[in-house]
Amino acid sequence: MAKRLKMKSGQKEQLVQEAGGKCANPGCSNWRTQIHHIQHWSVYKAHDSNHMIAVCPACHDHIHYTGGITDELLYKWKGIPRTNHRDVEGYIYIEPSAEIRVLTGTMCVSTSNAEAAVFTLSNSNKFAFKISGDGDIFLASCSIKDLSGAYLVRMFDGYFKVKRDEAVQINHRPGKIRVTALDAKRYLPAWTITTMRRAIPDFVRNNITTVFELEVIRPGVVRLQGAFVANDAVLAITLDKIYVLRPELNGPIALVGGGERTEIRLSGPVTRIAFGL
Ligand SMILES: [Zn+2]
Repeated sequence: MAKRLKMKSGQKEQLVQEAGGKCANPGCSNWRTQIHHIQHWSVYKAHDSNHMIAVCPACHDHIHYTGGITDELLYKWKGIPRTNHRDVEGYIYIEPSAEIRVLTGTMCVSTSNAEAAVFTLSNSNKFAFKISGDGDIFLASCSIKDLSGAYLVRMFDGYFKVKRDEAVQINHRPGKIRVTALDAKRYLPAWTITTMRRAIPDFVRNNITTVFELEVIRPGVVRLQGAFVANDAVLAITLDKIYVLRPELNGPIALVGGGERTEIRLSGPVTRIAFGL
């Protein structure tokens, strides 16, 4: 068997760029990519970029095994002029369930309403969820801005866009997204960082802080963590506590529950705020 030649250096990067920094499928948001040889390697034994394309592992699988993506279609995708995407986009799928809960620290928020806001700190910092369908479809929404007013995270009914930035680290896998600010000062007011260093040292470490983390735990159940900033207050949600920080307070107020059984149930009119600061 002929030894497989290596691709030229930079060839993969160039193909990923050509595809817009993500899977070349215009209907796919995955930015984890692999290089596919449209003209099969075993026949041509060449790495010719004109016949190669960056696709994600799931689309790659369709090319090889389901016949759902033809060579003709791949050449069409290659021909789409693209600029590199500035945002990381995707979808958080939450398996349907009759049980719908948001775990925050050692408490959980549930609702019998169609829509519920877990918190709305301002127009730019909020987390809300909606129950759709026959009451078993869970759709999460949120928006988070940095101190300059620029969006870090936008999520609408499970579809998200996160700003791609050298000061922001994004970890995403199906069922989980975490956004980390590598320069906490751009996201958290200075007084917060001082208080956090003293009272919640794990939260801001080496000027790095978790801005937002959403993980699907079970069908219909998600865990929310992060730091959510308003003008005069910050809500910090960790694995075991919810902290309320205000500049006039000496330290944070910590809300501790007894685990998932401690429930904050939102009821009454359509939209309610669990933690209105
Ligand atoms: Zn794809």
